[in-house]
Amino acid sequence: MATPIGNLGDITLRALDCLAGVDLIACEDTRVTAKLLGRYGITTQTTAYHDHNAAKVRPGLLRRLGAGLRVALVSDAGTPLVNDPGYKLVREAVAAGISVTALPGPSAVLAALSLAAVPTDRFLFAGFLPPKGEGRRKVLAELARVPASLIFFEGVSRVADAVADMAQVLGGERSAAVARELTKLHEEVRRGTLADLAASYVDTDDPRGEVVIVVGPPVEAAATEADIDVALRTALATMSVREAADAVAGATGAPRRAVYARALALKGDGR
Ligand code: SAM
Repeated sequence: MATPIGNLGDITLRALDCLAGVDLIACEDTRVTAKLLGRYGITTQTTAYHDHNAAKVRPGLLRRLGAGLRVALVSDAGTPLVNDPGYKLVREAVAAGISVTALPGPSAVLAALSLAAVPTDRFLFAGFLPPKGEGRRKVLAELARVPASLIFFEGVSRVADAVADMAQVLGGERSAAVARELTKLHEEVRRGTLADLAASYVDTDDPRGEVVIVVGPPVEAAATEADIDVALRTALATMSVREAADAVAGATGAPRRAVYARALALKGDGR
């Protein structure tokens, strides 16, 4: 069994049981995991599994898993595989018919989304943006029209530049939040429009710690009366007045009663 689990301070009881019960723990950094295991008196053997040794270590882990040993995978903080090692191990374990399960735990992605005060029904986690301005703005332009909240990891020294580029490329009016040091002593969430946030980082020292940036969905421009008329005429060609009013009110966000009245007028005029 390969078990990806989180390893932040907010560890679950189930994860502790798992760590105590498996045959081996593959850790991003054995020293970091040793502190966690020490705190809970867990003596399970550990081995390092990180970006620099993964290709070499993976076959041995898969051999042990194939022989029926249970291996837990942990990262230094948050959820393994989320911008952390583990995806290839899981992929190859699954391909080899080894049972894999996940023990849900903390992740900076969902913690930041929970606190950002932006819509949460649709979101896109975009990982780290390119570090240089030109590359960053190109990726932001690709994401600008995605109808969802966007979540980015960012190096703390680049937050000011990243938020300024977001205001420029995604639109300064979009709601956003910069969530820093989540679950830690100095947790801070700065909320506002992207323009507000960009202004708040001008001429200030770089913040410290780890940061997630969350941006709310694109702000739709309010439909004009002319837009509504065009949409209604198209809809009325194939729909009843009631259906056309429902469809156009839903698509534009305009009040249904007003759209219905306008649909009736257009139909009556034969326009
Ligand atoms: N796997 C981890 C997770 O699920 O949270 C993420 C690992 S990724 C290599 C590290 C990035 O996650 C940091 O650069 C930062 O953007 C974000 N991050 C991790 N911990 C954080 C925290 N406590 N507060 C804010 N951001 C955090």
